[in-house]
Amino acid sequence: MFKTVGVVGAGQMGHGIAQISAAKGVAVRLMDRDEEALATGLEKIRKGLARQERRGLIGEADVGDTLARIETGTDFSILADCDMVIEAASENEEVKRDIFKKLIPHLKAEAMLASNTSSISITRLAAATDRPAQFCGCHFMNPVPAMNLVELIRGLATAEETFEAFQTYAEALDKTVAVSEDFPGFIVNRILLPMINEAIYTLYEGVGSVTAIDTAMKLGTKHPLGPLELADFIGLDTCLAILGVLHGDLADSKYRPCPLLVKYVEAGWLGVKTGRGFYDYSQDVPRPTR
Ligand code: NAD
Repeated sequence: MFKTVGVVGAGQMGHGIAQISAAKGVAVRLMDRDEEALATGLEKIRKGLARQERRGLIGEADVGDTLARIETGTDFSILADCDMVIEAASENEEVKRDIFKKLIPHLKAEAMLASNTSSISITRLAAATDRPAQFCGCHFMNPVPAMNLVELIRGLATAEETFEAFQTYAEALDKTVAVSEDFPGFIVNRILLPMINEAIYTLYEGVGSVTAIDTAMKLGTKHPLGPLELADFIGLDTCLAILGVLHGDLADSKYRPCPLLVKYVEAGWLGVKTGRGFYDYSQDVPRPTR
C-alpha cells in the first residue's frame, strides 16, 4: 500500500482523493498551480470531515489527524518523496502532458503514476512519461468520498505489479474496482456522456424545459439526479472535454457535442463550480436557467 501519495490538482476531484487517502492514514501532498484552488480544496476537506463528525461517522481526533496528514503547495518539489502521484488536473491532454513533464524530474525512480482522466487514452498519457510500465488509469467518481466506484485502466505498457498496487490502494480506500480496457471514456463516461449530450440536444431542440427533462429522467427512469443537474455537477467544461475525446478518438458523429453545451462553456457557465449552468445556484434552491 502506498505510504505517501501526491495529488496534482486540488479541484472537485483532487481534494476528494486527498481527503479519503489521508483519512486512511496515507501521507498526502496536494499540489495545484493555483493558491486559491488549494485554499478552497482544503476548506472543502474541512467541511466534508466536519459533516462526517456531525453524523458520528468519525471522531474529533480523526478530523485533526486527517488534516495533519495533508501538506499543500504550488511547486512540484513537494511531490519528491511520494510513492505514487495521481494527476487530477483539468481534462485537457496538453495540460496533463505538461504536468508529467514538469513532475518527472522531482520523482523517485520507483514512484508510480496515475491519471484520474475521465476519457483520455492512458496508453498515450503513459507514453508521455519516462515510466509507462509504472503508469495506470485510476478514475474516481464525483464526489469522491461518497461514490464507491473506481475504474482501473491498464495502458498497453502497464506492468501487472503496477495494476495490483492500484487495486490494493483502491480497495484500502473502501472502493469497488471495475476494470476497463483503455478506450475513450472507459466504461462510465462512454455510456453516461452520450446520455447527457442527448439531454442537452433535447433542451436545444425545445422538446422539454430543464425542469421537464430532469423530472422526466428522475421519475421516469429512477435516476437520482436528472442529466442536466448531473452535467452541472460534473462541470460543463469537463463534459465538453470528454465529448471532444469521444468524438475525436472514436471518430463517430454520434458523439458530436451539442452546440448549446459549447455555448454554455464559452459563456463561462460551467455549472455548480461557477454558480451557473443549466441551473442558477445563487439562491438556496437552484433555479433552471432555461
Ligand atoms: P476542476 O476544474 O474542479 O479542478 C482542476 C484543478 O486542476 C484546478 O484546481 C486547477 O487549478 C488545477 N490545474 C490545472 N492545471 C494545472 C497545472 N498545470 N498544474 C497544477 N494544477 C493544475 O476539475 P475536476 O472536476 O476536479 O476534474 C479533474 C480531473 O478529474 C479531470 O481529468 C476530470 O476529467 C476528472 N474527473 C472529473 C469528474 C467530475 O465529475 N468532475 C469525475 C471523475 C473524473
